Amino acid sequence: MALVVTLLWPQGLLSSWSAQHSSQYDTVSITLFDVGQGLSVWIAQADKHILYDLGDRFASGFNLVDAVVLPELRAVGVKQLARLYISHWDRDHSGGLLPLLAQMPVDWMILPDRLPGAGWLQQSSGTSRWDICGHGQWQTVGVVKLRSWQLTGSKWHGNNRSCVVQIEVWGQRLLLPGDILRAGEQALVRRLGVSLNSDILLAPHHGSNSSSGPALLHSVQPRLVLIANGYRNRYGHPHPSVLAAYDASGTDWRSTARHGQTRLIIQPDGACQIETQSR
Ligand SMILES: [Zn+2]
Repeated sequence: MALVVTLLWPQGLLSSWSAQHSSQYDTVSITLFDVGQGLSVWIAQADKHILYDLGDRFASGFNLVDAVVLPELRAVGVKQLARLYISHWDRDHSGGLLPLLAQMPVDWMILPDRLPGAGWLQQSSGTSRWDICGHGQWQTVGVVKLRSWQLTGSKWHGNNRSCVVQIEVWGQRLLLPGDILRAGEQALVRRLGVSLNSDILLAPHHGSNSSSGPALLHSVQPRLVLIANGYRNRYGHPHPSVLAAYDASGTDWRSTARHGQTRLIIQPDGACQIETQSR
């Protein structure tokens, strides 16, 4: 594999910037881990770290937290998380929760629902605070602003109750919609409209044609789409029609199956660069 570094925007800064700055104090990096069929995203700044989902855990005990997520965090000395979001309870998103909590304290955990036994979980894991996905109020973690929404009411369950998180770093916005489906996308658009506008979109539901409908794409207007999908996954993610929709709207995209772990590096002036692994 070879590291591929590409400047996304603005144009003209490539020569003044290199990948080695990714751990520098005044940058923020957003890493889409290659966890196969599943999702885990890491937002890293100097001393505050946020995870959104934790990948899968299998009956054998093998899990993507131990295999991928924690080695990456420990490599740069991360000992604690400022925030941990679980978008929804599908195992490919939440499977790594117990392995993670057994090994790393979390300041604030945000879950999609009340969890049976969550009191025990909170006590045993040393998590100081936990909440249900929010209602759109901005919060600040270091230089990162974030807010979350969730569709509520009995009509919405499973994938459509994914905790949707929007992150803003120095003017760049990233939307993390979990596995939300088209009906849920449309409901979010009706409620939030242009608030969803984001430079970078995580493809909902791994690029499945259950999602990424025109209403969402029209509201978000992403410049770049990140797709979390397993190499030769059995679901056929991403669907060709979804990729065609991205291409038709002129939206660049990267997928973990094709490009491996993908990292965005955002500088204080808003310049954004992407590192991928070519296969
Ligand atoms: Zn999923």
